[in-house]
Amino acid sequence: MEFFGVEGESEKLKAIFLPLITPSHLVPVVDIARIFAMHGVDVTIITTPANAAVFQSSIDRDASRGSSIRTHLVKLPHVPGLPEGMETINFSTSRDIASKLFEALTKTLQTQFPQLLHQFKPDFIVSDMFYTWSVEAAAELGIPRLIYVGGTYFAHCAMDSLERFEPHKKVNSDDESFLIPGLPYNLEMTRSQIPERFKTPSDFSYIMNRVKESEKRSYGSLFKSFYAFEGAYEELYRTIMGTKSWNVGPISSWVNQDASDKSSRGQGKEVEEGKGKVGWLSWLDSKQKGSVVYVCFGSMKNNFSATQITEIAHGLEDCGHDFIWVVGKIDEGQSRALVEEFEKRVEASKKGYLIWGWAPQLLILEHPAVGGVMTHCGMNTVIETVDAGLPMVTWPLFAEQFFNERLLVDVLKIAVPVGAKEWKMWGDFGNEIVEREKIAKAIDLLMGGGEECEEVRRRVKALSEEAKKAIQIGGSSYNSLKDVIQEMKSLKLEKLNPKVEEPVA
Ligand code: UDP
Repeated sequence: MEFFGVEGESEKLKAIFLPLITPSHLVPVVDIARIFAMHGVDVTIITTPANAAVFQSSIDRDASRGSSIRTHLVKLPHVPGLPEGMETINFSTSRDIASKLFEALTKTLQTQFPQLLHQFKPDFIVSDMFYTWSVEAAAELGIPRLIYVGGTYFAHCAMDSLERFEPHKKVNSDDESFLIPGLPYNLEMTRSQIPERFKTPSDFSYIMNRVKESEKRSYGSLFKSFYAFEGAYEELYRTIMGTKSWNVGPISSWVNQDASDKSSRGQGKEVEEGKGKVGWLSWLDSKQKGSVVYVCFGSMKNNFSATQITEIAHGLEDCGHDFIWVVGKIDEGQSRALVEEFEKRVEASKKGYLIWGWAPQLLILEHPAVGGVMTHCGMNTVIETVDAGLPMVTWPLFAEQFFNERLLVDVLKIAVPVGAKEWKMWGDFGNEIVEREKIAKAIDLLMGGGEECEEVRRRVKALSEEAKKAIQIGGSSYNSLKDVIQEMKSLKLEKLNPKVEEPVA
């Protein structure tokens, strides 16, 4: 691993990373922290004990391989109404608890920050986008703040256009499509597919406005995709925001280089229930090359009603292809009994394999038997799947996922849509039910080997090659990382040796 212009211990660049406490932000920010450390930066990640448990084994491995990286733990105070030991926001966290937890964490970090800065003396900080307060904290110390922005450049450009031109307010119904102006591609969506905050101002609109404002006041932003994936939107984003931005993906394959890295990533103590950790592996080993579709809806897992879960089960059984379905945790109210029954059937027929906990996604995606992925279009999974050279069935649910779907289906043409029409609030089931026929049909289109599907496969394979080049020496993401580290280094040196103004003669 090449060190980027960080010569000696006295000149070592020091950084503090502040990841959010949801798996979908924690996992990529820790990966980014690790890639900085692998390239010579001294890194301290600040989080709570339960969140550290999710990634600590990777940090320990990196440290033993020579990276200068550690975790610093902050303890949350007891907050009335917050269950003891609750430190992570995931699918089962109610909105009320999530906001209490976020407030408690923010207050703790803000209070301890001056002491942390004094202790670790960072030259710059990398903050999750939701810690807007860290703009001021960094400014007070006179150090640059980089912001980690989740999602694609594409989605951010589209959302900026919605804010600026409000095309969704010019249509007569929720399912009438409209054009999102000002983008390199003619992007069409419907009002039912865009996030609620664009239609009805809420507390969340206020939070997102603050995030955007803090983004503009940051020294620059870090994204985790790569140039060949959405380069035109990367450039547009820079113009819109007027800030610097560096694209350092695909981050997961860059840092998680061996099986131990990949299998423990993001998993913490959650193991697959019942069947032992590697049941999925022997099941996949028994399958033919490219014959299995992997179905996973991200770290928030089953954001589905009992009816929807039933439709998914039938859709998978009817699609005619073998599958792995990461069901996560399903409770009784969500038809657990039905899914257990389903599992027995598909296990007997050898058509399917269910994972009830955290799936070792990176390892599954690189298994030769996997030939396609059904995804909710979470940005991490999208990039990991493209990196693995696999085409997708898209089933967006919440956040910026409907924009990501348009990028995959219309612009890059590497995915088949399941036909979801309703954007849902995170944690809500919504009203739409995607029927089993649609699910089976989309999977069959992707996996069935028709001409259209072969084209899709060819395109995603080509993009996967580009993803691999991006992180090699001289590749776009490699150069991006090198640039941002060298820029942080120059700022540090300027601070140490301020320019003396020439007296005016
Ligand atoms: N992930 C995993 N196993 C699981 C579920 C998720 O390894 O069972 C990882 C996945 O590889 C990805 C992240 O968790 O890196 C999920 O992020 P994504 O953006 O896809 O979805 P989100 O969780 O943000 O909805």
